[in-house]
Amino acid sequence: MQIWWRLSADPLIDEALRALHEHAATVVELHRPVCLASGRCCQFKNHDHLLAVTGLEAAWTWRNTQRVISIAAATNAQQQGACAYLDGKLCSIHGERPTGCRTYFCDRGDGTWQSTLSESLHQSIRRIHDEREIPYLCAEWTWLVKAFSAADERGVFFKGSLH
Ligand code: SF4
Repeated sequence: MQIWWRLSADPLIDEALRALHEHAATVVELHRPVCLASGRCCQFKNHDHLLAVTGLEAAWTWRNTQRVISIAAATNAQQQGACAYLDGKLCSIHGERPTGCRTYFCDRGDGTWQSTLSESLHQSIRRIHDEREIPYLCAEWTWLVKAFSAADERGVFFKGSLH
């Protein structure tokens, strides 16, 4: 976790992740899925949806957002099966949200393009890990948010913080 935290500030990694986000936006713009801002994609338990995020991306989001999530809020969100960053029906960290949030829409269309985009972005993130020999973990988002909320400012877990 500490290495993800440290490397999330690396200009090359920052640039690479932002480029992937831009690519996602370009593809989404081409397909124009309908988004009614229902918040359904962020209420995982209620809508039988799981958001998987890499540790590196989670660290990048945690570093770049101004929104602070306490351990209590992260724990509560995890128990509810919803994202701690959901504010009403809207994402409170729209500019810093992970790749998985940028490629999933309730309007599935034929479903193919979302899966294809999601998979290709995931492979690109995997390549960043491989090229820099960064330890790889892809985990459930509410768990990662809780993990970061329980870490100190250097991304170090507090003892016994993960349950
Ligand atoms: S980060 Fe934003 S878009 Fe992603 S699940 Fe959370 S509230 Fe939804």
